[in-house]
Amino acid sequence: MASVNDIRSAFLSYFAKNGHEIVASSPLVPRNDPTLMFANSGMVQFKDYFTGRSIPPQPRATTAQKCVRAGGKHNDLDNVGYTARHHTFFEMLGNFSFGDYFKEQAIEHAWTLVTREFGLSKDRLLVTVYVDDHDAHALWKKIAGLPDDRIIRIATSDNFWQMGDTGPCGPCSEIFYDHGPDIWGGPPGSPEQDGDRFIEIWNLVFMQYEQRGPGDRVALPKPSIDTGMGIERVAAVLQGVHDNYDIDLFQTLIRASVELTKVSAEGERRASHRVIADHLRASSFLVADGVLPSNEGRGYVVRRIMRRAMRHAHLLGASEPLLHRLVPVLVREMGQAYPELVRAEALITETLRLEEIRFRRTLARGLGLLEEASSDLSAGGMLSGETAFRLYDTYGFPLDLTQDALRARGIGVDLSGFDDAMQRQKAEARAAWAGSGEAATEAVWFGLRDRLGATEFLGYETESAEGSV
Ligand code: ATP
Ligand code: MG
Ligand code: MG
Ligand code: MG
Repeated sequence: MASVNDIRSAFLSYFAKNGHEIVASSPLVPRNDPTLMFANSGMVQFKDYFTGRSIPPQPRATTAQKCVRAGGKHNDLDNVGYTARHHTFFEMLGNFSFGDYFKEQAIEHAWTLVTREFGLSKDRLLVTVYVDDHDAHALWKKIAGLPDDRIIRIATSDNFWQMGDTGPCGPCSEIFYDHGPDIWGGPPGSPEQDGDRFIEIWNLVFMQYEQRGPGDRVALPKPSIDTGMGIERVAAVLQGVHDNYDIDLFQTLIRASVELTKVSAEGERRASHRVIADHLRASSFLVADGVLPSNEGRGYVVRRIMRRAMRHAHLLGASEPLLHRLVPVLVREMGQAYPELVRAEALITETLRLEEIRFRRTLARGLGLLEEASSDLSAGGMLSGETAFRLYDTYGFPLDLTQDALRARGIGVDLSGFDDAMQRQKAEARAAWAGSGEAATEAVWFGLRDRLGATEFLGYETESAEGSV
C-alpha cells in the first residue's frame, strides 16, 4: 500500500523526471506578503514568478507545500471533522510552469500521472473546465478521451482560481474521483455536489491574469501553470478508503489519541479524535514556523485551532493536558519530510502543554456556563451574543469554539449580538482610558487597532480575550 510518504516521493520524482526542479515547501507564514495570512497553496512562494516581478532560476518546479486554510478567502476550519476531505493543515503537491509549458502539457502530465503512475481507472475520473474554456475542453477530450458528460463545464468561481483578493489567477480544471454510489453526493455542478461521493483531487490552474484590486485584472506576461493536488485526498483513493481520516497517517494519529484517552474512535466521539488529529498537525506546523498562540493576528488563529482541539480532548474525558503527548507520533510520521518539525519538537511540545494548562483553568467553567445558557434552546435556536461574548472575554472561548460546541445540537450564535457586546466593551475601555488623561496615546492606539482590525487577519483582539488567566 502506498503510504503518504511514498505518494509524496512518487509525485516529486515524476515531475523531476520531466524536467522540474524539486523545491522545498515555503514556510506557512508567507515571506513579504502582507496580503495573505498563511500559505494556502503551492503557488504562493512563486507568486512573483507568475507576475514577472522576479525571474525564476528555472522555468519548471515541483513541490510538496504545507498549507493552512483557516481564515481569509480559503477557510475550511468549520468543515474539519465533519467532511471526509477537509483539513486545516494539508499538503499540496504541485507542478509549476513559469511561462514555459501551458494547458496541453499540464493536462498530459496530470493524466499520465493519475492513470499510469498512480494507476487510477479512467472510469472513476471526471473533470471540470471553466465554462468558456473551449481549449481545455478539447484537450481533455483529445488527451484523456473522456466522453462529453465527464468533462463538465462550470460557470462559478469554483473553476476560476484566485489566491486571494489580489494576486495571480485564472480559469482552472479540476479532476474528480468517483468513490462510488454507496456514498452520497453528485458530480460537480449538480445539486448534490456537496456530498462526498465525487472528490476533487487535483486542480490545474491556467494562470493568465493578475488581480491587482477590485475590478482591476491584467494579463500576466506569459501564460503559466500552477497545479495543486491534496496529498491526503489522493492517498485515500490510492489506499482504497473513502475518507481522508482513514489513511495511514491519520490512522496512526487517531490510534495514539485513542490509546491516550481510552475512548473509541468509532462511536459518538469520532469527530473529536479527528479534530484533534487535524488540529495537532496545524498547530504543530504553525509553531514550527514561528507562530505562537496570542490574542491577535496569526497567533490568534493558532490559539483558536489549539483551543478547539483542547475542548475536544476535554470531551474525550482527558483530565490532564493531552495534545502535547501526541507530538512525538506526529514527528515520527512527518519529521523526515519536514525536518523543521524535528527541530521544533521541544518548542511545539512546550507550547501546546502550556496553552492547554492555561485553557483548562477556564474551560470547564466556561462549558458549564454554556450548558446552562443553552439548556432551554433546541435545534434552530440561538445562543445570545451576550453569552458568547462572556465566554470569549472571561473564559477564553474563541467565538468559533462556541459555535463548534453548539453545532451538534443545531444551535447557532447571535453574531450581531456578539459584535454589539464587543463594541460596547471597546467603547467602555475607551471611555475609561480617556478618563485617565492619556487621550493622545489612546487615540493613536485605538486608531491602530481599528485599522488593523479591518484586515482579514485579525481575530477579535481585546486584551482580556484569554479570560481570567
Ligand atoms: P474543495 O472544493 O474540495 O474545497 P478547493 O477547490 O477549494 O477544494 P483548491 O484551491 O483547488 O481546493 O486546492 C487544490 C487541491 O488541494 C484540491 O484539489 C484538494 O485536493 C486540496 N485541498 C484543498 N483544500 C483542502 C483542504 N481543506 N484539506 C485537504 N485538501 C485540500
Ligand atoms: Mg475549498
Ligand atoms: Mg473545488
Ligand atoms: Mg479546486
